[in-house]
Amino acid sequence: MRLPNPKPYKYNKMAKYKLEYIWLDGYTPVPNIRGKTLIKEYEKYPTLEELPNWGFDGSSTRQAEGHSSDCVLKPVAHYLDSTRINGVIVLCEVLHADLTPHSTNARATILDDPGTWFGFEQEYFLYQDGRPLGFPEKGYPAPQGPYYTGVGYENVGDIAREIVEKHLDLCLDAGINHEGINAEVAKGQWEFQIFGKGSKKAADEMWVARYLLQRLCEKYKVDVNYHCKPLGATDWNGSGMHSNFSTEYMRTVGGKEYFEALMAAFDKHKNEHIAVYGPDNHMRLTGLHETQSIDKFNYGVANRGASIRVPNSFPKNGYKGYLEDRRPNSQGDPYKIASRILQTIATVPTK
Ligand code: ADP
Ligand code: MN
Ligand code: MN
Ligand code: MN
Repeated sequence: MRLPNPKPYKYNKMAKYKLEYIWLDGYTPVPNIRGKTLIKEYEKYPTLEELPNWGFDGSSTRQAEGHSSDCVLKPVAHYLDSTRINGVIVLCEVLHADLTPHSTNARATILDDPGTWFGFEQEYFLYQDGRPLGFPEKGYPAPQGPYYTGVGYENVGDIAREIVEKHLDLCLDAGINHEGINAEVAKGQWEFQIFGKGSKKAADEMWVARYLLQRLCEKYKVDVNYHCKPLGATDWNGSGMHSNFSTEYMRTVGGKEYFEALMAAFDKHKNEHIAVYGPDNHMRLTGLHETQSIDKFNYGVANRGASIRVPNSFPKNGYKGYLEDRRPNSQGDPYKIASRILQTIATVPTK
């Protein structure tokens, strides 16, 4: 990570910081990221506690009626923004004027648990002129096959990798815990993975990473398409956001009996899970292209066609470790996904 405050003003001890307050708006079925800048002087890179609550006009973001439109932005995490001198990204929860959580604030519904770890695998398409980056104006490029983890102009085009690499650097500068990146199965499709310890950390970092990607793409005249099946019912892969999760109990106690009870709870609540796993998921969860059908729940060791994939290591270690829920899609809100997974886990008794 680059040092905070890389170029402090020469003659003042105090420096003006550009605080980019970002939050999720009230659009459905998926929120958009919004942001605006507050300039404030600090002696050094501010701590989270030094960042004040701020506000915005909720009537412009579908979060309030015009007659009483003030919503409160409460900073919950902050990240270095290496694209701006003295830049800080301030991730916020949205509150009502009385400081209670707004109904659009899904983060506030996540059970706070430092022992829970999440790893999200974000797949997405880069889009230009209404089609995936690298697709010809008419028709399709060569069928899927060489693109996944591919190399060379024919497979990845000219600017995609530049965007992906710059995005990675921005995220690492920000302190986001990326675990990896790869080119995906369809042309123009990519993935990055974020892992975090604590029930909200990876979800927070996912939203900031999405923000950084969209902002970076502006100057390339490229958009990020998070839709789970942007090319419809074709042989082109859709995009998911596989959600890997473990609680301290799963990692340290676990056991076959607990695992089976956990999977029974996931089966019982499958509809509530699908409801927050991203829109249009019926287009993606068809039983084809390494997916299970949307109306079925199953699990299987190393099974990429299952709703939940159990890593090989899990039974080997006495049914301890993490599980991969493969159903969440690329447009899903990681806050809602994390919240639902923890709600279901909480219904299963531990010893
Ligand atoms: P694949 O594409 O084969 O599913 P990836 O490497 O893309 O594999 O994703 C695996 C994810 O699992 C990573 O994001 C990683 O951080 C996450 N993960 C690994 N161990 C744990 C754990 N104990 N708890 C939660 N997530 C984990
Ligand atoms: Mn992956
Ligand atoms: Mn993938
Ligand atoms: Mn995966």
